[in-house]
Amino acid sequence: MESSLIGDRIMDFMEQYNSITAQTKKELAAGTIEIIGNFFYEFCMPNLWHLRNIKRSNNEFVFYWVSDTQQAVCPECKTVSQNRANTYLTRRIQDLPISGMTVYHEIKDNRYYCDTPECSSITFIEQFEEMAEKDARLSERLKDFIVRYAIEASSNASSKALIKIGIKVSRDTILRLIKKKGAAVVTQNLKRDDVKVLSVDDINLRKGNSSTACSVFIDGETHRVLVIVQGATEEIAQKVLKQFPSADIVSRDRGTAYASAATKCDKIQVADGFHLVQNIHKVVKDALYQEIPHDLFVREGEGWIRMVNSASEESVDTSVQDDGDCLVVMGPTTLAEDDLEKRIYLAELTDKQADKYKKTMKILELTESGLRTSEIAKRLSMTGQDVWNYRKNAPETIQNVENKIDEYYQYYEQRQYRQKTIAKHTDAIIK
Ligand SMILES: [Zn+2]
Repeated sequence: MESSLIGDRIMDFMEQYNSITAQTKKELAAGTIEIIGNFFYEFCMPNLWHLRNIKRSNNEFVFYWVSDTQQAVCPECKTVSQNRANTYLTRRIQDLPISGMTVYHEIKDNRYYCDTPECSSITFIEQFEEMAEKDARLSERLKDFIVRYAIEASSNASSKALIKIGIKVSRDTILRLIKKKGAAVVTQNLKRDDVKVLSVDDINLRKGNSSTACSVFIDGETHRVLVIVQGATEEIAQKVLKQFPSADIVSRDRGTAYASAATKCDKIQVADGFHLVQNIHKVVKDALYQEIPHDLFVREGEGWIRMVNSASEESVDTSVQDDGDCLVVMGPTTLAEDDLEKRIYLAELTDKQADKYKKTMKILELTESGLRTSEIAKRLSMTGQDVWNYRKNAPETIQNVENKIDEYYQYYEQRQYRQKTIAKHTDAIIK
């Protein structure tokens, strides 16, 4: 079986050249590997790293590097030391994958003595921050790639998708990287002195839950988010506005919190386009509702469909909300008075049941004529909530009566079959 180390492969290949000495072969192999390392990573690895070998296994590459530095900066006292110790620290850093295989760089970082007598560090390990942060297990460019990728999807989905192209990273790590990157971007944004127009609006992280309110500040010219802060109060807005003295103009909604914050920070205030359009929409909608009935019921076959869902409007008491989007009533909805009485008699309704049935039928009739719920309530001397309840239960109420009438006829037919006296009953029906 062929070796998984590239160094061994090259040595195997040179077996056929008998004229070359073993020492030369070793040197040729080392030189070749170094050229490969340069070839791939010339522009994205520290200059003084030299590739010593590459190991390939089922789904990963490990690149083995040594650092050939002659000096390093002490992270504690920031002085340059040329006093290299004989020991080193081996680090493994994951990098961008190659051909769907996970890539690791294993680097021997040199240890240096700090020569500053006052320094608290006796020795320190050299760092290559442009490649990877101290103690980080992921390279900077890999982190960048993960964050860019994960911002478009959930961290869970990203973790699964990334592993397919050879990046091994957990959901938690992805979340941590995004938060860290976000914090860095915000820190950078807060230092900006070229923002001319600040746009501010509030947003609830959880819809409808004002305890999750945040204020979003946007560069009005580039439309890019500058900072998102928790809370949507005047004090919070003021704090952020003070961070951007270069902004003369604040574009905002008509809420008082941002208005007074902007006033206190001496900014020119303009209404933003979104809220102007939103206001126009509301005015047009309100005007339309003044003209059309509150609820529209449209006949469909033997039933009814409610077209306007007034449950979604603020003016309706929440306790009377309909749980369905539309109301469908099957069965007869308009009956002549005597027809109604006859049905009540046949169904043998109690006084209470009869009252409910009559009211339900009346409400449906008035609804069909296009009256609003409030108007129906007024005419029938009941509350809007009652009208709602009767109408909501109408299908059931009507069906119950129909069932009872069916029962009556079944009973009647049976009696007829048994040749019993039915005269009384027929009289009753005719009456
Ligand atoms: Zn030092």
